[in-house]
Amino acid sequence: MQTLDSFHRASNLRVVTNQSLKPLPSRKDLASTLRAVFPHLSASDDALSPRRGGRIAAEALLALVNPQSYERSRNYLAGDVTRLSAYLRHGVLTLAEVRDALLRRVTDPRHAGKLINELAWRDYWQRVYLQIGEGVWQDREQYKTGYSATDYEAVLPSEILDGTTTLACVDGFAHELRDTGYLHNHARMWFAAYVVHWRKIRWQAGARWFLEHLIDGDEASNNLSWQWVASTFASKAYIFNRENLERYTNGVYCRTCPHAQARTCPFDQDYEGLEQTLFPRLKFAANPTAMPTPPSFGPSIVRQRLPSPSGKPLLWVHTDSLNPKSPMLLAHPDASAVFIWDTAWLMKSSIALKRIVFMTECLEEMPGTIELRSGDVATELLHAAKASGVDYILAQRTPDPRLQAAALATQNHLPVVWYDPPPFVEEMRAFDLKRFSRYWQRAQTSAMKMTPST
Ligand SMILES: Cc1cc2nc3c(=O)[nH]c(=O)nc-3n(C[C@H](O)[C@H](O)[C@H](O)COP(=O)(O)OP(=O)(O)OC[C@H]3O[C@@H](n4cnc5c(N)ncnc54)[C@H](O)[C@@H]3O)c2cc1C
Repeated sequence: MQTLDSFHRASNLRVVTNQSLKPLPSRKDLASTLRAVFPHLSASDDALSPRRGGRIAAEALLALVNPQSYERSRNYLAGDVTRLSAYLRHGVLTLAEVRDALLRRVTDPRHAGKLINELAWRDYWQRVYLQIGEGVWQDREQYKTGYSATDYEAVLPSEILDGTTTLACVDGFAHELRDTGYLHNHARMWFAAYVVHWRKIRWQAGARWFLEHLIDGDEASNNLSWQWVASTFASKAYIFNRENLERYTNGVYCRTCPHAQARTCPFDQDYEGLEQTLFPRLKFAANPTAMPTPPSFGPSIVRQRLPSPSGKPLLWVHTDSLNPKSPMLLAHPDASAVFIWDTAWLMKSSIALKRIVFMTECLEEMPGTIELRSGDVATELLHAAKASGVDYILAQRTPDPRLQAAALATQNHLPVVWYDPPPFVEEMRAFDLKRFSRYWQRAQTSAMKMTPST
């Protein structure tokens, strides 16, 4: 395996400063260097996202957001959605600053209400993630489909992965995901519903594949959305029909689909008919109210600020905190900073080249110098800390159990202090996280207000 040194030389990462941004290597060069550094990347995995990583691209995109047009058109594939998800997922932008930007743009906060409500879904899933951690991979509740988890297949068949099912919409979504690392929310819902309800495949298989490719790939938003579609985190299964898909895609798939012409489209029924076809056991199933009570959540954790140890910090930049304007970084302009590629995670999760390129582009814009390491995160953190002679590690708080475990392992040797960016919702109260509607009922007033003192 090529060492990270050659990667550093090729990508200039060690010498990028805010004041003098060096010209970035071309994306092609960056991609080929990364391919040499990370051998798990297969030769066929060569697609790059049309979205460039980094704060400059994120701010340019944010400037274009029109909350009222969003509300009118967001359900359409060609609608005016923000495409901010990859920047929000990696902390390049925070939910609070996007919300604040929207509120500055409208005369009445209600005109930004729908988009703020969608942003809140991310906040909600992150809170659930903080509570259940790896539990995002387990069924939160039973399926409400008349089937049990063992009735579903465990792997995605090749025709779904390769986009060769002959269903123009499903294959189109599979290709788009692989080629661009992005899918519109509606396409994600349709695709997930097809996988789980039409093909009877466990949601985990689809979720794993999405996480390989989505540049906004996030175990909370992704897995819990799959569970919402599957019905293991919702009171009923999400399904769609051809009329719904045709309407919101302006018919682009159906026009070329052999199944539309041959009248063999599996989605071409009314909802009642589809429910009978897909969930025939439901009418015989026990009354859903007689099902075991789903595991419930306790109150959400109210974050506490830990006292900062005195002395010199090492800034640990991780996959959730790629914001070059983070107050944490700006407050410590002379501190050493490190980012660690978790090679075990990249390999185990088969993270695609486009995701790694996107994150690297975010790293290229970080202020000052940032050291890149790869390997076991806790071990490398301690090596970096020792080399810099620091007194503690400072990092942005994250619900990601992988990063939390690394912090915990490090903590035995050196204190780790979490920095909390300004929250999307004030932390004055505990939330009931069983359903989004319960959370939103309590969060809405605070979510619709500007961050104090901005
Ligand atoms: C099966 C499935 C898998 C998904 N996987 C992911 C994922 O890995 N990462 C991810 O960020 N989102 C995921 N989502 C949620 C949603 O589809 C995307 O956030 C959204 O489509 C991104 O496009 P956008 O930025 O243009 O969204 P917009 O519609 O413009 O919304 C603005 C922002 O609000 C947030 N948001 C909107 N809807 C949701 C939602 N339902 N859940 C969480 N956040 C939301 C996102 O941060 C998004 O960028 C998934 C949804 C489904 C149904």
